[in-house]
Amino acid sequence: MTPTPVQCINCTRFSLRGHTGMASQGYGQCALAAGAGHFESAVFQRHCADFEAVAADVAERRRQWLDAKQKTFHEAIERSKAP
Ligand code: SF4
Repeated sequence: MTPTPVQCINCTRFSLRGHTGMASQGYGQCALAAGAGHFESAVFQRHCADFEAVAADVAERRRQWLDAKQKTFHEAIERSKAP
């Protein structure tokens, strides 16, 4: 039975590889969604009957990659505030 709610970051149908800029902001693409411009939040809590869990190590690597991108992004913002 599908756990609910779920996060796309934990799903086999989710990918962060299609668009690096969007992925670095936490958005990826679902294989079931139509259109190249359609993005899903990696971590939004959703109810999805098509969810299929990835292996725990895959989910962890995705989270680590996203965390690193977010850290870099926030550091760049802080640097831009410096006088
Ligand atoms: S199938 Fe559902 S949970 Fe999986 S990536 Fe698509 S929208 Fe997200």
